[in-house]
Amino acid sequence: MSIQTRTDKPAAAPTLNAARTDPDVLRHDWSREEVQALYALPFNDLMFEAQIVHRRWFKAHQVQMSTLLSIKTGGCPEDCGYCAQSAKFDTGLKASKLMEVEKVLAEARRAKEAGATRYCMGAAWREPKDRDMDMVCAMVEGVKEMGMETCMTLGMLSGQQVHRLAQSGLDYYNHNIDTSEEYYDKIVSTRSFADRLDTLERVRQAGINVCSGGIVGMGESKDDRLGMLIALANLEEHPQSVPINMLMPMEGTPLGKSEKVDPIDFVRMIAVARIMMPQSVVRLAAGRELMSEEQQALCFLAGANSIFVGDKLLTAKNPEADKDSKLFAKLGIEPMPAHSCPAEKDVSADRAVG
Ligand code: SAM
Ligand code: SF4
Repeated sequence: MSIQTRTDKPAAAPTLNAARTDPDVLRHDWSREEVQALYALPFNDLMFEAQIVHRRWFKAHQVQMSTLLSIKTGGCPEDCGYCAQSAKFDTGLKASKLMEVEKVLAEARRAKEAGATRYCMGAAWREPKDRDMDMVCAMVEGVKEMGMETCMTLGMLSGQQVHRLAQSGLDYYNHNIDTSEEYYDKIVSTRSFADRLDTLERVRQAGINVCSGGIVGMGESKDDRLGMLIALANLEEHPQSVPINMLMPMEGTPLGKSEKVDPIDFVRMIAVARIMMPQSVVRLAAGRELMSEEQQALCFLAGANSIFVGDKLLTAKNPEADKDSKLFAKLGIEPMPAHSCPAEKDVSADRAVG
């Protein structure tokens, strides 16, 4: 009996769009049609393109791990339709004052011992008051002294406030655009999309790394989702960190009864973000608690390489540390060392503070 082996090659490899996938080119001129075509690729081709880009700039098995602390919870005057911290909705959340600096630093020490390399601090503010800035800057300085990267999210900032944060050595500022410009006023009415962009530009000009992304699952269309990615990628510089949140429906908020996002649609969003912003860290942020291990694994394959660790986000739940370490062991994922994002600006260098 003779055994026949196949000598003919399998079908030709998918034809990739060289301009689109050249991982060395940072583009800021994405058109809607191009991004729609990218999103619509057969799933395996999309994942393949995302992997090509991902492996050019990052170690494929490394994931950046941040810990998040709410330094001022609830009672926020804004009306973001997804947020349990807005004072406009009855969510049962008790508002608290800004935490003492020492308490924040004690929490940061614990996070460092648990392996976090970046400490993110968030406040439920429309914008900080000038009198809060001394405490906030002392928190940044204290966390930096522990050798961790620092990130703050405090709402909109004036030029003077950005200047103070830059001087205290803040590494990252988070300020999400949340959705497309067209859909923004369906979600928030107390500020505009342009307000958000203004703060982002001040932060960028001060030499602070920008963390900006958004939320999927607020009733927006696929085009809104892609519009959000286009708005981020077509900024003067790509945000160094791009969090993609899956809506955590919060009881009492207008979006509390929203439908779950299709898992494959979510993975596609991650892959498209990875391809459009090759050097940025793409963060699988809120909503990981609602995802299966398989969905998380697909997100990492699609190019997500940053997560929050610890069992709590600002107010929402996050997977427990134990669950995470078991998943990472299964996937062979290890923590990304601090300051290894290729797009990151060195904040110790002199900054052009405007
Ligand atoms: N007040 C500041 C601000 O809005 O920039 C900082 C805190 S805010 C809670 C940080 C981000 O968390 C929001 O921009 C939003 O993208 C995300 N977020 C808040 N609630 C969420 C939810 N229920 N599901 C998913 N993401 C959420
Ligand atoms: Fe306030 Fe931020 Fe929540 Fe909006 S997302 S209500 S600004 S804490």
